[in-house]
Amino acid sequence: DGTVRFENVVFNYDDDRKILHGLDFEVPADGTLAIVGPSGAGKSTIARLLFRFYDPQDGRILIDGQDIAEVTQHSLRGAIGIVPQDSVLFNDSIGYNIGYGREGATQAEIEEAARGAALDGFIAKLPDGYDTQVGERGLKLSGGEKQRVAIARTLLKNPPILILDEATSALDSRTEDEIQATLAKISERRTTLIIAHRLSTITHADEIIVLNEGRIAERGSHRQLLVKR
Ligand code: ADP
Ligand code: ADP
Repeated sequence: DGTVRFENVVFNYDDDRKILHGLDFEVPADGTLAIVGPSGAGKSTIARLLFRFYDPQDGRILIDGQDIAEVTQHSLRGAIGIVPQDSVLFNDSIGYNIGYGREGATQAEIEEAARGAALDGFIAKLPDGYDTQVGERGLKLSGGEKQRVAIARTLLKNPPILILDEATSALDSRTEDEIQATLAKISERRTTLIIAHRLSTITHADEIIVLNEGRIAERGSHRQLLVKR
């Protein structure tokens, strides 16, 4: 489970300007949807609507056939994992950081989440600059690795739906390969994945929606979109 459906979703933050002009798409359970497009296209807004940070003025958003307007905030939070853009890393091991705030998570679960975010072999290590008790120098994490810690933290709660909002993240500190590798890894899981990204080169998606000024300009698989060009 974890089917996500947008039905003719119309949204504006304030009265004078429409941001989404009747958006229609469906992500099947365990599928991966990439929403790409220029800055300001409305990618992050889609993520915010899914989390009911805002509600649409018209249309419906359904998860497994149920209108999210009729779902409790509690069950919505259980169904959706959002990876925050900037997560704070504590002066402790990567494993501790992954498990932080998840009381009762076992070591095995933390290891599994680390693997799910392509952080195998990282969990005993410390983030940048800190000395371990054995006098070892800490590990310098790249922006992408820090993001993967945040992903692993979210994976720990095993959400049926995972939202990765990369629409405004600092791309300069992250290589495209890193993003592709992370997506490849997550798509092995039984998780519905929605990723918002400025890059149009996402290959690990079942469908790509190209968003422009709140409308779907193009849609298809990576291959289909390449053929069209
Ligand atoms: P993207 O994620 O594709 O860069 P956003 O969804 O963040 O785009 O923004 C879409 C449009 O909505 C932009 O024109 C942006 O300026 C506007 N917008 C975003 N957040 C707000 C807000 N809180 N209030 C008013 N307008 C907003
Ligand atoms: P939990 O409370 O189990 O950690 P939540 O589902 O409450 O999980 O939140 C998951 C993450 O999403 C948190 O890191 C939080 O900062 C972030 N988050 C919560 N609400 C919003 C929101 N409205 N928009 C964007 N991110 C949010």
